[in-house]
Amino acid sequence: RARERLESLLHLINDWLDMARISRGQIVDKLKPLDLERLLSQQVEFMKSLAEESLVRLELRPIEKKAFVLGDGQSLEQVFSNIISNAIKYNKPGGSVTVTLREEDGNWVTDVMDTGIGIPREHLPLVFDQFYRVSRREDQKIKGTGLGLAIAKKIVEAHNGIIQVESQPGQGSTFSVRLPKAEPEEK
Ligand code: ATP
Ligand code: MG
Repeated sequence: RARERLESLLHLINDWLDMARISRGQIVDKLKPLDLERLLSQQVEFMKSLAEESLVRLELRPIEKKAFVLGDGQSLEQVFSNIISNAIKYNKPGGSVTVTLREEDGNWVTDVMDTGIGIPREHLPLVFDQFYRVSRREDQKIKGTGLGLAIAKKIVEAHNGIIQVESQPGQGSTFSVRLPKAEPEEK
């Protein structure tokens, strides 16, 4: 139990350090054209075992075109790793997580759709706040510090992007990340 407590404290400290470290300038300096589908398919691959353990089907829908955005790979990995792991953690056995990509007004939009427990309407505006966790019996059993989405929002906004959520309690949630397109040949 002591070991578990320590591990979760360490996790908290690391998340919090991330939160403090992430400054807009740092990210903006590192923006370059990046293949978003490739990044997503790697993240989906990393999450396969968590999904299997949770009896959740996880898939990335392939697209025809190349989806290039101006981004910093490491920071965007952190964004999608949190959103996809949330979609698995706050799901139900037999549920699914579907990741899709679409173009919209000069942006690439990634939707992470889950068939999980959902988020009550009154909590929706708060899930991106630091340390905010929906207080439900389900959530208490699931490990987390409530920093993942706050970090994700900071990173997405440093990319001049937008992160949004829609949810039906009991049916599932969709997190959408909108990032400005880049041309692959752009520096
Ligand atoms: P961590 O810091 O480890 O990511 P966390 O997962 O609890 O901890 P966030 O990722 O910031 O924190 O999410 C905040 C809260 O929003 C969660 O505790 C959960 O209550 C709710 N939430 C996030 N994603 C989903 C989802 N896909 N379905 C249902 N609830 C969700
Ligand atoms: Mg999380």
